[in-house]
Amino acid sequence: MIIVMKFDASKEEISNILKEVRKFGFKSNLSRGKEKTIIGLIGNVAAVSTDHFQLFSGVENVLRVSKPFKLASREFSPEKSVVRVNRVSLGGNDVIVMAGPCAVESREQILETALKVKEAGATILRGGAFKPRTSPYSFQGLKEKGLEILAEAKEKTGLSIVTEVMTPEHVPLVGEVADILQIGTRNMQNYALLEAAGKYNKPVLLKRGMMATLEEFLMAAEYILSNGNSNVILCERGIRTFETYTRNTLDLAAVPLLKELSHLPVCVDPSHATGLRSLIAPVSKAAVAVGTDALLIEVHPHPEKALSDGAQSLNLEEFSKFMEELRPVAVAIKRRI
Ligand code: PEP
Ligand code: MN
Repeated sequence: MIIVMKFDASKEEISNILKEVRKFGFKSNLSRGKEKTIIGLIGNVAAVSTDHFQLFSGVENVLRVSKPFKLASREFSPEKSVVRVNRVSLGGNDVIVMAGPCAVESREQILETALKVKEAGATILRGGAFKPRTSPYSFQGLKEKGLEILAEAKEKTGLSIVTEVMTPEHVPLVGEVADILQIGTRNMQNYALLEAAGKYNKPVLLKRGMMATLEEFLMAAEYILSNGNSNVILCERGIRTFETYTRNTLDLAAVPLLKELSHLPVCVDPSHATGLRSLIAPVSKAAVAVGTDALLIEVHPHPEKALSDGAQSLNLEEFSKFMEELRPVAVAIKRRI
């Protein structure tokens, strides 16, 4: 059972609930967020009626949720959630395209990409400043300098920024520039990072761990939500299977299934899911058709010279053609790109 306190519930109202919970012999988990305070009850709560707690002052809602993920579940919020990022809404009628290179490599690369992807219809610029690389000898990103370049691109184009954060300590640093904090596949179960992002007041793009079940994925989202941040976007980016022709295997069914299980907006990243430039357009069309709310696409002015993930990046011209091809698919399901 979870008790959602009113936005303006006082300390006394919260402590009254905690005392009552103890009287029943239950343990509780209190998460005090910027938007909501939530009390989770732990113990055999089946015997207690939700009405009992509903009558206490300061209580907004009391819910019994059967799934292990509570705040992420459809039972908690039967309505789809919309995550607002400046002028853009994720989870609304528009399919949002986030595009840009795997990594921020130079000022010229980012400014050129930003202008061109904006012209083609993308509304969010992607680009890693801190890069989680499999090899310690690979390019690790421009770090702080990369963030400065992203900030300049944002100022010049008005595009919002999504960029990865790898450690809890870096959340405020990256959050100063990012409009959306990206938590990558390798960090999906980095609980300290999930908690730090949960306590920070910026939307989070949470990528599915490469070996994660959907339940594990939603439980990771639950860490962010239960720490008070309700703006989470789930990103399917392919999982590891026996197949080797593609970098990962895109779990397309995860898109409608996540939307059945959860109210959170869903994004698909066909670049990391396939590893192959030629598959980005067909796979994106399928993702739009099955209801993705957003796409995360790697775009580079010169993919052949990219310091990471060139083989799965579109060039600027290809990206613009890609956007044109995608629009009729969105229209066919009464959405817009
Ligand atoms: C990325 O988006 O650049 C990235 C590293 O993705 P993932 O965490 O899905 O591998
Ligand atoms: Mn990449």
